[in-house]
Amino acid sequence: MRSLETIRTIAVLGAGTMGRGIAQAAASAGYSVRLFDVSPGALREGHAAAILGIARFEEKGKLTREEAENARERLLAVADLKTAVAGADLCLEAVPEFLELKRRFFEDVEPLLAARTMLASNTSSIPIRELAKGLARPDRFLGLHFFNPVPVMRLLEIVVGEATEAGLVEIAQDFARALGKEPIVVKDSPGFATSRLGVALGLEAIRMLEQGVASTEDIDRAMELGYAHPMGPLKLTDLVGLDVRLGIAQMLERELGPRYAPPELLRTKVEKGELGKKTGKGFYDWARVPSGVSSG
Ligand code: NAD
Repeated sequence: MRSLETIRTIAVLGAGTMGRGIAQAAASAGYSVRLFDVSPGALREGHAAAILGIARFEEKGKLTREEAENARERLLAVADLKTAVAGADLCLEAVPEFLELKRRFFEDVEPLLAARTMLASNTSSIPIRELAKGLARPDRFLGLHFFNPVPVMRLLEIVVGEATEAGLVEIAQDFARALGKEPIVVKDSPGFATSRLGVALGLEAIRMLEQGVASTEDIDRAMELGYAHPMGPLKLTDLVGLDVRLGIAQMLERELGPRYAPPELLRTKVEKGELGKKTGKGFYDWARVPSGVSSG
């Protein structure tokens, strides 16, 4: 594990859905982790969730008792940003998906970092070049796009900015493998590899539903049984959130053209508040979806 030599201490900034998962995965893989959040409540909750996640992995036999104990010791909740990033080899932000918020956050964080520290964003759609504007060291910056739930999902999408140092990509690949993940390396471009392909499939499935080509269930079954996708594109859209998918589709339409124009059905469902599993209704009525369906 070469990256353990290069990266030892990680500051995970933002303790929401993704930050807590990244913290759990990194501590379980042997890294020292400082988890930070601007909200004390979110920090407490995120840290507790990561600790609980480690216990679940121990129960399932995915971590030995000793590994779990070490992981718990290595995972610290830190309420002060300066302390969280001090001495970190990698700072990974997982704050909400708003360009201005992330840029302002980097303005606060970057002056606190040692020159050799790697800075990374878990953004799922914002171009790395946009985030890098204003950074003093864009060469030390790249995208590390994890998937939800992080401790389970095996992909790490490494997004390489124009200014990113080549050596950082190698360190990031080693880091991914040390976490038990498979890295893919993608040039900074709209939607990277994952969102660009995933959203294309999702939007086409919605258009097919609009045109009455087949039912929701049958469109999903087409991909699940015919193409061995673990989950159909409409169910996946429900899990990701229709509002999240709409936002990415609008960005891709601006960047890549009308083939990403969101279908009317997606817009109206978002307007009605049918955002998917999180609101109980999207393309499916989640009160009636059999349990056992999950995004992992
Ligand atoms: P979230 O809303 O669950 O968590 C964000 C956390 O950031 C919150 O706890 C919030 O208190 C904290 N925060 C807000 N402003 C902050 C600041 N200035 N400093 C420190 N903390 C701050 O969001 P999430 O779903 O974890 O998403 C985080 C990032 O990961 C986004 O860029 C998102 O696009 C990306 N992402 C999300 C998913 C997903 O499935 N949720 C998947 C891949 C990537």
